[in-house]
Amino acid sequence: MAATNINRQQLHELLQSSNTILVDFWAPWCGDCRRIEKAYDQIADEYADVLTVVKINVDEVEGIRQEEDIRRIPTLRLYRGGEPLGQIVEPPSKADIDQFLSGILPEKQKESDTHLYDMVVIGGGPGGYTAALYAARAGLDTLVLERLSAGGQMALTHQIDNYPGFVQGVGGFELSGQMQQQAERFGAKSLIASVHAVDLATSPKIIQTSEGVFHAKTVVLATGANPRELGLPNEKQLLGRGVAYCAACDGMFYRGKTVAVVGGGNSAAADALLLSRIAEKVILIHRRDSLRATKIYHEPLMQAKNLEIRWNSVVTELLHEGNLTGVRLRDVITGEETVVPCDGLFVSIGRNPATELVKDQLELKDGYILAGETTETSLPGVYAAGDVRLKPLRQVVTAASDGAVAAHMAEEYIASL
Ligand code: NAP
Repeated sequence: MAATNINRQQLHELLQSSNTILVDFWAPWCGDCRRIEKAYDQIADEYADVLTVVKINVDEVEGIRQEEDIRRIPTLRLYRGGEPLGQIVEPPSKADIDQFLSGILPEKQKESDTHLYDMVVIGGGPGGYTAALYAARAGLDTLVLERLSAGGQMALTHQIDNYPGFVQGVGGFELSGQMQQQAERFGAKSLIASVHAVDLATSPKIIQTSEGVFHAKTVVLATGANPRELGLPNEKQLLGRGVAYCAACDGMFYRGKTVAVVGGGNSAAADALLLSRIAEKVILIHRRDSLRATKIYHEPLMQAKNLEIRWNSVVTELLHEGNLTGVRLRDVITGEETVVPCDGLFVSIGRNPATELVKDQLELKDGYILAGETTETSLPGVYAAGDVRLKPLRQVVTAASDGAVAAHMAEEYIASL
């Protein structure tokens, strides 16, 4: 059962009742809001007997953001008897929503799965779902574990222009859903679950998750990478109060405002261009005198009339009065310091591989899983696909390629058992 959208009047009526209500404040343009949709509907089902689960489109219900003090979306807020009990903002996984609710509502019982899968794929991005597609199509009994929705970082990418076969490009969220459905067409199963721990050296391999324990002959690690932070004081506190890591998710909050983007790679270039269509002014701050981003971005960046580039500059301080008011920059050549007033700062300085789960079990290099063209890791039956693997080019197409190779290697490994 999908959570229903309600208006202000309906919210007020619900708040006057003694029910416990969970409200998702969302908007159609918000990538993270789309990513939590399935998990949120699942929450509506699982908690149907104790919770009224609804949604409010903050674009449609005028003034609701100010009225309810919603600073970032999606915000999931729990009310009982009209009083807010707590909230969770931009939940990174369904398990986080469950944990948030578990302090207040009766906890659900999780059952362990005694089934032995041929393959468990951790991470449902393009690497993970391509592995699942190839594995399921080869007749392997395959389960994909994804903590929120299919697609990983790809699901947050507004438009993908360089994945072959889509003449006009394709939306990242749409492509994610299609990859999932394609793998499921051949029998792969998907489960929204957060993986807490893995034991990859044992046979079978053990995967402990928020939804129970799973066993598998092979494991494909396709956990991707998370945004890198600047590491400045107050950076975490100012998240949602001016500091952001995803232009496609939070850019709309800066319509008509001044924003800065830090970074010189493809992500920073794409973010700066996207923001130049929304914000009044965009300042791209890069620590060197040339961009790392591919040439295709250079011309549009130079053409954007409201975009200024501050070369050889690093952000040394976040200035704020509750919300971000500006950044202090240092010129790395002259040492000169300047203050740049801005309402938002988008940090686009690359990603850190998500290898926390396996760092003590597998060989890593620079934080990435050491696995070559075959995607084989330092443990038999364990493969790495996509951004989490050490490789020269991190793209949807290379992640998909890894997934196909990983499934092929897993198939050979299982045949040899
Ligand atoms: P990236 O290519 O690693 O670029 C990171 C940028 O941030 C670099 O310019 C780097 O500066 C700068 N940087 C790193 N740490 C910094 C710090 N502490 N302070 C200031 N600046 C810092 O990362 P990305 O742009 O996120 O891209 C990641 C991968 O995804 C790449 O393989 C990229 O090609 C791919 N991608 C592709 C597309 C596309 O093709 N359309 C779009 C997005 C991402 P330096 O240049 O000085 O090192």
